Amino acid sequence: MFDKVLIANRGEIALRVLRACRELGIATVAVHSTADETAMHVLLADESVCIGPPAAADSYLSIPAILSACEITGADAVHPGYGFLSENAQFSDILKEHNITFIGPSGDHIRTMGDKIAAKQTVEALGIPVVPGSPGAVEDPAEAIRIANEIGYPVIIKAAAGGGGRGMRVVKNSQDMAVSLQTTQTEAKAAFGDGSVYIEKFLGKPRHIEVQVLGDGQGGGVHLGERDCSLQRRHQKVWEEARSPALNDSQREKIGNTCAKAIADMNYSGAGTIEFLYENGEFYFIEMNTRLQVEHPVTEMITGIDLVQEQIRIAAGAKLGYTQDDVQFNGHAIECRINAENPRTFMPSPGLVENVHVPGGLGVRVDSGIYSGYRIPPYYDSLIGKLIVFGKSRNECLMRLRRALGEYVIEGVETTIPLFQDLLAEKDIMDGDYDIHWLEKYLGWH
Ligand code: ADP
Repeated sequence: MFDKVLIANRGEIALRVLRACRELGIATVAVHSTADETAMHVLLADESVCIGPPAAADSYLSIPAILSACEITGADAVHPGYGFLSENAQFSDILKEHNITFIGPSGDHIRTMGDKIAAKQTVEALGIPVVPGSPGAVEDPAEAIRIANEIGYPVIIKAAAGGGGRGMRVVKNSQDMAVSLQTTQTEAKAAFGDGSVYIEKFLGKPRHIEVQVLGDGQGGGVHLGERDCSLQRRHQKVWEEARSPALNDSQREKIGNTCAKAIADMNYSGAGTIEFLYENGEFYFIEMNTRLQVEHPVTEMITGIDLVQEQIRIAAGAKLGYTQDDVQFNGHAIECRINAENPRTFMPSPGLVENVHVPGGLGVRVDSGIYSGYRIPPYYDSLIGKLIVFGKSRNECLMRLRRALGEYVIEGVETTIPLFQDLLAEKDIMDGDYDIHWLEKYLGWH
């Protein structure tokens, strides 16, 4: 096992990783920008190193700065959290060259899954259902039109190197194809440095359902069930639940087992998420994330498995040590992302947190790094915490969520707490009846 882990991240996820390390008896190193000197993870870590100015490009994304922090503190492993360098294959390779373990999958797996075309081809060969579309990159409009005619309009053009919901364009008919293709290629080249794009059938009313997987790179692979993350705005998840209200047990077992087998077959090592769109009873792969997800706690709540500790154990060379039959699912969990934003316009609201009161009680978990007197810097993502509730049934979970939101007080900045309170008054939410467009329609954006 590792002696000392450096946490290359900030905010609630840095704290989450710190907690896992501490329970495993591993010393922790926090790194931080000059804007994060008073962040909770910095205050709680065994050691901390300032790695640069506020701009993420010069601090949390600076490989040389993080490498130096590892050298100075003698850390033998790095946990990247999510975002920042978590899906950077070069970072994982460089750490390896310096005999420091990257807590995550191999550089090769990160690279393959980071290229959406390669990812789709890889998982399709392993038996995972994919969205009908072009077999590879599409370059010229005539070819694009031929493929679109085959699969039927509307189609979506997507950047192979895209991420964060960017680099996509829906095309409704052949007249629009040439311009849309060229625009997406140009934008992809500018945003991601790679202009390759591919075409998929556009699904009208899907749900977003993803499967959590764990592999040990030694033949072991399990799934930890699915999460439903259909409530989104601008392709950003807002509310996540496990299990999905849309699936029955035989559907979830089938897709779960397909994913677990694929993970074992590709000798994947670490935690990962296989994302699908789900429509009319069918699953369609969209991408695989080779890292921990923001919404991982809902899975932890229903399985009792600490995903971060599993990532660390696997990176240290341990085998999974259990099979699919050992993974037990209990109850229901929902996560609400608490952002420092206006709850309707989603305009960021950084600044001084004057007062915080965190909800508690049975089945309530809050992963958050803010405290009274903390100043939220304006430079980073506006996620300031996650409220996760567990209940024996979905209904109990919803009632508990309403109770917990009512107790949650954050004064001084605007937060998305009122949005979740409003959502709990909606019949569709109570019934679990929503697709990926539901929230934007509710907000009056369509
Ligand atoms: P990113 O890596 O940018 O998150 P994804 O491939 O995961 O990109 O897609 C993000 C979102 O875009 C999906 O959750 C969905 O809302 C929409 N989307 C992607 N592909 C399709 C498709 N074929 N049909 C309909 N919507 C899609």
